[in-house]
Amino acid sequence: MNRSKRAEIFRRWQEIDPAPGTELTYQSEFELLIAVILSAQATDVSVNKATRKLYPVANTPEKMRALGIDGLIPYIRTIGLFNSKAKNIIATCQLLIDKHHSRVPEDRAALEALPGVGRKTANVILNTAFGHPTIAVDTHIFRVGNRTGIAPGKTPLEVEKRLLRLVPAQYHQHAHHWLILHGRYTCTARKPRCSECIIADLCDYRHKTAADA
Ligand code: SF4
Repeated sequence: MNRSKRAEIFRRWQEIDPAPGTELTYQSEFELLIAVILSAQATDVSVNKATRKLYPVANTPEKMRALGIDGLIPYIRTIGLFNSKAKNIIATCQLLIDKHHSRVPEDRAALEALPGVGRKTANVILNTAFGHPTIAVDTHIFRVGNRTGIAPGKTPLEVEKRLLRLVPAQYHQHAHHWLILHGRYTCTARKPRCSECIIADLCDYRHKTAADA
């Protein structure tokens, strides 16, 4: 894909959705961090359903730690991998209290040192909570980057690096959300909706789907 096509794709996304955001519900950096940890291999809808009951009870590291693993599990047991997520969340709360004055650190290394937080989660927090121009690559973005030709790569890190290198800088701030929403609702995994896609004329995918009869 050439530079002008890539720029036009992002121009169109910006035109139809100038300020995209996460679909996770949160009211503080801490709530966002916990929601993102819970969202690994789970839908945002399922996470929001759980946190709607959890956050009125525990919306700070101290309150969450006071719940403990056994107290947290009943709130999140509808979410995949809830046992290990509960363990990681309580350990993360302890570290936030001990090392970061109970605040979410605005720093990649400090974020990645928290249990349950890898590069992708750190990128989401830096971007969504702190406004850094990072691009977290999840399964949707990995697929869209490869399928469209916007940023092909064999690993999420390769796609992330290509996106940062190839996407015009003015679009970095919102690139993560535009790509994720496009992958979630239009360029879906099994049957992409190419006939409704606003970037179909720019996309390199060779097997575009036709409209349903
Ligand atoms: S044309 Fe199809 S494959 Fe290409 S981005 Fe749109 S939905 Fe995805």
